[in-house]
Amino acid sequence: MSNTDRHPDATSSRDCPLVLGEHVCQRVTARGTDVGGIPVARALPTWERRRIGAWCFLDHIGPVEVPEGTPGMRVGPHPHIGLQTFTWMIEGELMHRDSLSSAQVIRPGQVNLMTAGRGIAHTEESLPDSRRLHAAQLWIALPRVDACTSPRFDHYPVLPRWEQAGMTLTLLAGDVLGHRSPTLAFSELMGLEIHSPAVGELTLALDARFEYGVLVLVGDIEIGESGRGEVGGKRFVANELAYLGQGRHSLTLRTAPGSRALLLGGEPDDEDIVMWWNFVGRSREEIIRAQHDWASGSERFPPVPGFDGPRLAPPPLPWEPRDE
Ligand code: MN
Repeated sequence: MSNTDRHPDATSSRDCPLVLGEHVCQRVTARGTDVGGIPVARALPTWERRRIGAWCFLDHIGPVEVPEGTPGMRVGPHPHIGLQTFTWMIEGELMHRDSLSSAQVIRPGQVNLMTAGRGIAHTEESLPDSRRLHAAQLWIALPRVDACTSPRFDHYPVLPRWEQAGMTLTLLAGDVLGHRSPTLAFSELMGLEIHSPAVGELTLALDARFEYGVLVLVGDIEIGESGRGEVGGKRFVANELAYLGQGRHSLTLRTAPGSRALLLGGEPDDEDIVMWWNFVGRSREEIIRAQHDWASGSERFPPVPGFDGPRLAPPPLPWEPRDE
C-alpha cells in the first residue's frame, strides 16, 4: 500500500499528547481515504493517536466488492524506508512484487511482511478474478538500531489459530496464551485477530507493560474490564479504534454476531519518529534524502520486476527549502 494523499502530512510521534496511565479508553474514528482505487479507513496515524507500540500505521481496506470491468486495487511501484509493511488478508487475493524480485500472492488467512530497512520498492495489485477485497495493512516502525537493516520479504501462509469462547483467534504477531506467531519482529509487540460468528464474551490476559488498542473491522464490540464490577463497557463499531493505554492485566470483549477486530499491543516507545508519505525516519533530513533518492531513480530503490506500469511520483515535501 502507498499513502496516496496528494499532500501527506508529516507526523511526529511527539506532537500527539500521550494519554498513558491505567485504564484509559480513548475513542479514535478512522478517517476515510482511497488507496489504489479502493476505499480505506485509516486508524493510525490520526490526530488523536500516532502509535500503539511500534505499530505506526493502520489501514482497514474494504470490505468491498470490486465492480466487474475494473481492476480492483492497483498500486504502482513506490518506496518505503525504516518500517515493515504487514498485510493481513481477510477476503480476496493480492499480488505483491518488490525490488528484491519477490512475487507472492497473498490469500485469506495469510500475512505478507516486507521489511523495508534502508530501502525497498514494491507493488500491490488485485488478481483478475478476485472480486472481493478485505484486508488490513499495518506498518511497524523499526527500532533505531534496525532502521537501516537489509530489506527482505517474508510470506506466512499459516498462522497460529485457535477457538476460544466460541470465537476464532488468529495470532498475527508476538506471543499470546502459549501460542507464538512466526512473523519476524524487531521489537516487543503483539497482534491478534478476533472473529466472533455469534454473540460472545472473551476475556484475555494482557501484558501490563504494553499499550493496547482494539480496531473493530466488522460489527459491534463492547469493551469492558473483567473483575472490576463494571456494569457495561464502551461500545465500538466498525472503523473505531479503542486505545487502551498501559497497565491492564486483562481485557473483556463482548461481541455482536459476525464481529471482527484486531487487538494490537506493544511496548511504548518514547523515541520520536517522523513519518511522511511512505517513509519512517528519525529526522527530517532522513526523509528528505529518501524523497530525493526516489525522485532521482537512485539504486537505493531498484526497479520492481514484473509490474507493468509507472512508478508513483513522490508528493512535494511538506517543508520549505529554507527549513531544510
Ligand atoms: Mn507500500
